[in-house]
Amino acid sequence: MSNKLKVRYYKPKSDIALDITDIQNFVYDMSRCIKCKGCTWVDHTYMPGAKFMTRCPSATKYEFDAYGAYGKMRIGHAMAEGVLEWNDKALEIIYACTLCGACDVGCKRNLDLEVELTLEALRVKAVKDGVGPMPAHKKIADNIVKKHNFYGSAQKDRTGWITKGITPAKKADVLYFVGCTASYVNKEISQSTAKIFKASGTDFMLMPNEWCCGNTLFSVGMLDEAKALAERNVEEMRKTGAKTLVTSCAEGYRMWKVDYPKLLNISTADLGFEVLHLVEFVDEKIKDGALKMKKPFDTRMTYHDACSLSRLSEPWTPWEGKRGWMGCVEPRLRRRRGTNGVYSQPREILKAIPGVNLIEMPRTRENAYCCGAGRGTKEAFPEFARFSANHRLEEVKEVGAETLVTACPWCKNNFTQAVKANGDDVQVLDISEVICASIKG
Ligand code: SF4
Ligand code: SF4
Repeated sequence: MSNKLKVRYYKPKSDIALDITDIQNFVYDMSRCIKCKGCTWVDHTYMPGAKFMTRCPSATKYEFDAYGAYGKMRIGHAMAEGVLEWNDKALEIIYACTLCGACDVGCKRNLDLEVELTLEALRVKAVKDGVGPMPAHKKIADNIVKKHNFYGSAQKDRTGWITKGITPAKKADVLYFVGCTASYVNKEISQSTAKIFKASGTDFMLMPNEWCCGNTLFSVGMLDEAKALAERNVEEMRKTGAKTLVTSCAEGYRMWKVDYPKLLNISTADLGFEVLHLVEFVDEKIKDGALKMKKPFDTRMTYHDACSLSRLSEPWTPWEGKRGWMGCVEPRLRRRRGTNGVYSQPREILKAIPGVNLIEMPRTRENAYCCGAGRGTKEAFPEFARFSANHRLEEVKEVGAETLVTACPWCKNNFTQAVKANGDDVQVLDISEVICASIKG
């Protein structure tokens, strides 16, 4: 250990912040990783057997320690200390990761290291250092910045999902943020969502000129561009006067609820409006009697927890303070450990549908295994995304589910493509479609 390191580690108090724009904020976390691999294996208290014992898609796919969170943190630590330069392999390892948060949950069972924030900060550093993001991300980033959507499609086509019978209000307390995928590709999700609003007697409005949420920009480390989008979108939302933003996309939900506040250095509570995923909205409507699930759906079904709706969805609160001896921090830091994600609402909804036999996969809730599509993975590493979907589908088949339900268009598409390629006998649906089918009765 160099003298430089000793001074940093044992200074009685040092200033730190949960700020991903500076990797130095996470040197403690990277240096204190004990390589226990709790970030790779499912906790032994939940261990569902040898077949499904990993939680990290990257370590499972690449079978080499550098790809686990502990490997990425060791690379990051060496870079932060100036003893390792970027090279093609290091860059690939940092981006061959779904930023799914499973490692963060695993590590916080024991050490409370900020693994997810460290991985995000490493991508920000890659972009700042002029080596990131990956080539495949640049085209998407260009689409988002210039055309305001992921696909590079025309803005005038954004509302092409609105068909006869769907009539958004000019003004309403509820604003539906549709997102790029449900606007341009998975129109069945936006159309089902609009029908659910109608069935529950809820008027909803749209943003006058909806733009992409910026998930890919944020996820690949392009923070300047992501922040500009966060400022624009939050301002536009506030101008509408709507009290609640509802989205049917898990990635969009995480952006609005967690990462916009992170980018704007405010708390989720200070956004000035409530952010709900469709499943939270529907759960409330069922409980207050406004929505009834009548039509039976006879199937053996399992639910996949999308990372951004589950362990990554806890509200954000900015924090800065001091770290002292033994890593103790002051003032008190309320850790985000993934246990307070949106887990019960989708399950309650599905259980309320007559005929549904809901069964859990071995890895569930905060221990769920990522589908492999999100946070720039599918664009830069399509084979890795397919691998992860197939690994999860093995679990679906293991429990004998006929129908796989998720609450994110990214998960739905990745699973659907894998099922089609394999010829698997599994029906993949978004939860909005299932709810919509059950309320039509
Ligand atoms: S669980 Fe935490 S301490 Fe253990 S190897 Fe993973 S990152 Fe390091
Ligand atoms: S974020 Fe997910 S894929 Fe990336 S290192 Fe952590 S567990 Fe592995």
